[in-house]
Amino acid sequence: MSYTGPPLDPFDPFGAPRPRRSLLRRGLTVALAVLVPGALVGWLAYATFGPDGEGDGGGSAGAGTGTTTAPRWPNVGNGKSGLAAPSGSADTAPSGSASSGAGPLAGKVVVIDPGHNPTNVQHTAEINRQVDIGTHSKECDTTGTSTNSGYSEARFTLDVAHRLRTLLQQQGATVKLTQDADRPYGPCVDERARIGNAAHADAVVSIHADGSGAGNRGFHVILPGSVRAGAADTRAIVGPSKELGKLIATDFADSTGTSPSNYIGGGTGLVTREDLGGLNLSTVPKVFIECGNMRDSKDAALLTSGAWRQKAAQGISEGIVSFLRG
Ligand code: ZN
Repeated sequence: MSYTGPPLDPFDPFGAPRPRRSLLRRGLTVALAVLVPGALVGWLAYATFGPDGEGDGGGSAGAGTGTTTAPRWPNVGNGKSGLAAPSGSADTAPSGSASSGAGPLAGKVVVIDPGHNPTNVQHTAEINRQVDIGTHSKECDTTGTSTNSGYSEARFTLDVAHRLRTLLQQQGATVKLTQDADRPYGPCVDERARIGNAAHADAVVSIHADGSGAGNRGFHVILPGSVRAGAADTRAIVGPSKELGKLIATDFADSTGTSPSNYIGGGTGLVTREDLGGLNLSTVPKVFIECGNMRDSKDAALLTSGAWRQKAAQGISEGIVSFLRG
């Protein structure tokens, strides 16, 4: 859809080094003033293009994710072979290490929610089952998107989750993943929320990458809107989740050198949604992050880089640390 919001980030996306922090903070301050229209733009995009995957597919008709009727990438879906990073040990996330029990996040619980599941594609009937997210019903889970060369979002989310887990454990946090390719599909989006709730998580972040049109670039963090319907009541988490999301957006931009989305969020890197079960049913502070657009070749070059994914995990970790340390 055509862009009707405030001016986009003036910087060349992914360009030369620049004083990102102060300028982005200023941008985020301005964002507060434009968040409502920005969110409206985002909502209109989703409303226009219909139901989509949990979190993904913003702003581009026909390029969204979440279609569960067929795999969108080749040679994935044969079990564990779909789980490895693209190539080489240097491109693979480190294996998880035990929490130290000491450090600035000692006693804190962080739940990481890697979006989708590498073998969802083999279980389309199960993941198409409708679940109640309070406001309405939607699919249990979706397959997620992929780059044009076949690197799947599910592999991306797990890799970033592993890197993020290691970083948070190094800070002393207790970390739990909602899935670690240790189940045939899902969990469903309602269960993903319940896992964070049951863990009494101090913060939850759901990791995704988007499936929008070519030319659409950059990251955005999705915040829970205020929802009270059925089993959903987000009123208590809207404020702290927004704070968590702002900190992650700032630190993600700093760490990766990437800019906020140029296609959703009005240049703020922040989008509020009320249609995501993973947010609607959460009772603890939670955000989603769409780390980039897998369907854009320039973003895909970043998303498929292990070095870049490490920077992404570092940025998310720093945002969580800032949030939890107050
Ligand atoms: Zn996703």
